[in-house]
Amino acid sequence: MRAVTIDGYGFENVAVRELPEPEPGPHDVVVRLRAGALNHLDLWTLEDALGLEHDFPHILGADGTGEVEAVGSEVRGLPLRSRVLIDPALSCGACEFCRAGEQSLCTTFRMMGEHSDGLFAERAAVPARNLHPLPAHLSYEEGAALGTTFITAYRMLFTRGRLQPGEWVLITGIGGGLALSLFQLAKPVAGKIFVTSSSDEKLQRAMELGADGAVNYENEDVGKAIRASTSKRGVDLVVDSAAGDSLGGSLRALRKGGRLVTAGATAGSPASLDVRRLFWNQLEVIGSTMGSVRDVSNMLRMVAGIEIRPIVHRTYGLDDALAALRELKAGDHFGKIVLTI
Ligand SMILES: [Zn+2]
Repeated sequence: MRAVTIDGYGFENVAVRELPEPEPGPHDVVVRLRAGALNHLDLWTLEDALGLEHDFPHILGADGTGEVEAVGSEVRGLPLRSRVLIDPALSCGACEFCRAGEQSLCTTFRMMGEHSDGLFAERAAVPARNLHPLPAHLSYEEGAALGTTFITAYRMLFTRGRLQPGEWVLITGIGGGLALSLFQLAKPVAGKIFVTSSSDEKLQRAMELGADGAVNYENEDVGKAIRASTSKRGVDLVVDSAAGDSLGGSLRALRKGGRLVTAGATAGSPASLDVRRLFWNQLEVIGSTMGSVRDVSNMLRMVAGIEIRPIVHRTYGLDDALAALRELKAGDHFGKIVLTI
């Protein structure tokens, strides 16, 4: 079978290679993949930003959709040819957190495509418990575009961020896959949504999608701008994946008692925090990573129930995966970059 692989770190080592067909274990399912979606995770993996040890050739890709082609001897209830979305989170299933249904707290939590072979391939053998039914209104490409970003966004907003109907939300860095997932999932629930970006074009697109306010953080202080737009009140919830120097502005945008959920550090991991503001305003700073099986199921039910369609920026063929990865790296996209397999 063909797969998008690296045999060393760096873009020059990305190639579509012919690999042996996957062998399913008794609890695994062989999925004939139809689409995959790119994430920054793929860039970190191929550029060795994570310091992990990989067996080369390593197959890239955390997000994929396809159809069930074969099942292991112990797998029940998954008809052949059913359309599935693969949750790329790998957890042990046995530790206290897994048994409590909090798989992303698992002591050995790992991701397909990052710690083990990924899904940018014609076939993959994955644990049956990682499969979820693909919502009927979505194509394989749209389903793949849900993947990691919608799972992460659902947990950030609802499980960790405890978003309530009518609350005001600030989403930083609109345009990337995660920020748009946050926007699409928050939109039916939030009272107002504010967005930030360094690109006026991306802010304009977000306003067209229904944002209530937009701040260009290159020109304006985010905290001041949000307070000015909310009669000095501030927002209830900030969902952020930038951190770094922008964290201070995000905290200043919160109302007293507000929450900030972080799930990334694209602007830098060390971030300073004014502790007086934290305790005096009774703020909460909350971390979030991927999602539990319950988060995935709840996200898919919401997506199916109100027929959310993830925003796809562009679709490439498997053979053009390198060009797709370079476009992700360039960072000018609005929505997900997807591979048709
Ligand atoms: Zn576990």
